[in-house]
Amino acid sequence: MKGRVIKSTGSWYEVDLGEQVLSTRLKGKFKQDKIKLTNPIAVGDWVEIEKEENQETAVIKKILPRENYVIRKSTRKQHFSHIIASNLDQAMLVITMKNPRTSLGFIDRFLVSIESFRIPGLLVINKMDLMDGEQAEEWLTDIHEIYEPLGYQVVGVSALMEKNLADFFKPYLEGRTTLIAGHSGVGKSTLLNALVPEAKQSTQEVSAYTTKGLHTTTFAELFKLNYPGSLIDTPGIKEFGILDIEEEELSHYFPEMRAYLGECKYNNCKHVNEPGCVVLQKLEEGYIHPYRYQSYINMLHEEDSHR
Ligand code: GDP
Ligand code: ZN
Repeated sequence: MKGRVIKSTGSWYEVDLGEQVLSTRLKGKFKQDKIKLTNPIAVGDWVEIEKEENQETAVIKKILPRENYVIRKSTRKQHFSHIIASNLDQAMLVITMKNPRTSLGFIDRFLVSIESFRIPGLLVINKMDLMDGEQAEEWLTDIHEIYEPLGYQVVGVSALMEKNLADFFKPYLEGRTTLIAGHSGVGKSTLLNALVPEAKQSTQEVSAYTTKGLHTTTFAELFKLNYPGSLIDTPGIKEFGILDIEEEELSHYFPEMRAYLGECKYNNCKHVNEPGCVVLQKLEEGYIHPYRYQSYINMLHEEDSHR
């Protein structure tokens, strides 16, 4: 039988078979890819399972090849990584201008990491009801002008005011598996609870956990929407790792720079101050947004400091 892993809590994995959700476990060791993983099975994985004699539980026989995944470095084990979720059609970053303010730098880091995982991105501006005045106007214009031409969809909403969020999001979510991320306080749970009522229980469990000062390790979870499609919540995960991106590679994850790569005079150009750099020329000509270029430089320097 084939199913999808919707929740993983250590040694048990909940697998959705469509009609039924079964608790499953792994027997034996699974061969891993080249990377060392702390978790052999991730939320979003498609697996083949076999029911055990009691018919209530099952054993995972096979993990089907992953189309993609997001990963971060393990916090507990050096040189190990943790797969957060797999088989994603897109990743949605919820951002706000106020309470809290999401910085453009944070958005860019998020987009670079999902580009590196080859996952399309969608920006959802929440708390639109708080947006008035000139400053808000400018911020909104910036977000649309910077990100839309790069191929990222930008949607504005007020999760508190919008009466039917499920319908509102249908054009973006239907038929897809979407990972949802964002700073704490931007309204992720509000959105999630409106889109999948049964998520409520889960998000409360997580916060109850953390207030007790127990493990703050939280788990991703997949929720099915009322229409085809699902959302993967990643509580407590602010950033995905930008794993081992080489300096020369970083510009590949900026779509506006990608177009010109290979045209620079030096093929190991980092686009900082090299002669004959086409990226710098395009920046000058206004084809690359100065904020984005600034984020690129900041990330380049951050990578430096990790060496
Ligand atoms: P999370 O930490 O991302 O899960 O954020 P929550 O969903 O817990 O929301 C944080 C706070 O923002 C709560 O007090 C929500 O009521 C509030 N909030 C959520 N959406 C909106 C919105 O559209 N407008 C306003 N003004 N507040 C919102
Ligand atoms: Zn260059």
